[in-house]
Amino acid sequence: MDAQFLLGASLLESGDVKASIAPLTRCVELAPDHSDGHNTLAMALGRLGRTGEAEVHLAHAAYLKHPQAPETLRGMGLGYCRRCGDPVEREEPSDADLRLHGPRVGMECLSCPTVLCVSCVLGNGASGVAPTRPVCGGTLRALRTDSEL
Ligand SMILES: [Zn+2]
Ligand SMILES: [Zn+2]
Repeated sequence: MDAQFLLGASLLESGDVKASIAPLTRCVELAPDHSDGHNTLAMALGRLGRTGEAEVHLAHAAYLKHPQAPETLRGMGLGYCRRCGDPVEREEPSDADLRLHGPRVGMECLSCPTVLCVSCVLGNGASGVAPTRPVCGGTLRALRTDSEL
């Protein structure tokens, strides 16, 4: 998978963004925990305007502890679920208690550095995934644009 990664990364660097997608996709298929592969694939997809796919791979790069991915995500107004690695949205801080949160807004724990997506918090009936609470038992609120998480 490193050969696929190096091929994709060098194609991207040389400006052949389209051609870089196949080897980079192959890289993360062969090695789902290749954080550089996810991060570089996200950059390539982003340059092609495939934003939704780019967000997913960037979030997975952050989940896999890629050093730059969390900051890039934050700059895009996003975070990632610490349980499943899916991207989540952030919202502007607000004092209103009664707010309707979008289905993609992440939830952050007030007592520990954990962020969860709504699917993980509520559980997913279809796939039988049980609802997740933060291990510390802390309170959750919507993930904010000014959060460090
Ligand atoms: Zn999740
Ligand atoms: Zn917690």
